[in-house]
Amino acid sequence: MRKCNVSALPALFSAIASQMTLYLPTANKNGGASFTEWTDGIDYCDALRTEKSPKELFFPQSEDLAAFKVSGKSIEIKDIRRDTEDFAVFGVRACDAKAMDILDRVFLTEPRDSYYANRREHGVIITLACSRPDENCFCTAFGIDPTTPGGDISAWKTEDAVYFEAQTEKGTALLDSLTALTEDCDAAAVDAQKITVQKILKKLPLSDLNTDAFGGGKTKDLFDDPAWETLSESCLGCGTCTFVCPTCQCYDIRDINTTDGGVVRYRCWDSCMYSQFTRMAHGNNRNTQKERFRQRFMHKLVYFPENTDGVFSCVGCGRCLAKCPISMNIVKVMKTVGGESK
Ligand code: SF4
Ligand code: SF4
Repeated sequence: MRKCNVSALPALFSAIASQMTLYLPTANKNGGASFTEWTDGIDYCDALRTEKSPKELFFPQSEDLAAFKVSGKSIEIKDIRRDTEDFAVFGVRACDAKAMDILDRVFLTEPRDSYYANRREHGVIITLACSRPDENCFCTAFGIDPTTPGGDISAWKTEDAVYFEAQTEKGTALLDSLTALTEDCDAAAVDAQKITVQKILKKLPLSDLNTDAFGGGKTKDLFDDPAWETLSESCLGCGTCTFVCPTCQCYDIRDINTTDGGVVRYRCWDSCMYSQFTRMAHGNNRNTQKERFRQRFMHKLVYFPENTDGVFSCVGCGRCLAKCPISMNIVKVMKTVGGESK
């Protein structure tokens, strides 16, 4: 394990940024935090959770895929992909790091999504253990330990120092390049922080949330539950919950005409909460907000684990609890459809 003083963090960021683009959480104009490219003078923001997750650094909200030019009966297809350069992301929480494993199961399964795969290969994730989990956190319900956050390098921040431990080859290479700014140390301070945070976690209001009622094979038990009607009644279909979610991965693909007579094909995030989502030539399979709402939660809690070795597609990051304009969220669904009321 290696460490540097908190006062040396800007120098450390500068050393990383001299090798590759560095992204980290910074304060935004909404009073929250967003992942931003680090440049000299930018301050790291120690917020518990960023408004949007680091997902967009690997799976951008909008990206061009290809371009075409049609002349008569011939079509010229242009590969407009650019080679991704190496980049690092500092300050990724354990829940968001786990969300990357979930996205990998979607995008890196054959046929691999080469756009996402390219960014995964070039990105180095430096996680940061949580020292102040709050009332919206429930990552432990999904087996995540926020004090041991994973990634390519795991980091822990105390009052006066930041501790680093490499977890992968990529992480080792980056940490080895920072030896002039870090020093060898033992894990005593990290171990002490883990004990303190584990005590906090046990006292959080959602610490006893459990997933027993959910998982693969539960479709028959849950699909026709009358509670979907009341739970979805006030849902605005705004899609906020899907856009802030680190595991949501649905997208739409569209073409736009360019001024030179060509076409650019791009993709952008989509939401299963939208009325036009998965609309096909014959119409839509889910015509009511109840059906769309149920799909979102059944997918995360039943269909995804059924198809991916029992892995749930929620990491308990708490963003949908904080951001839904009508205060609806996955915890209320779990407690109503499958939990405390049964
Ligand atoms: S954020 Fe809330 S209101 Fe908006 S789509 Fe999601 S559950 Fe519905
Ligand atoms: S469903 Fe909500 S709590 Fe779960 S990962 Fe998505 S935003 Fe986070």
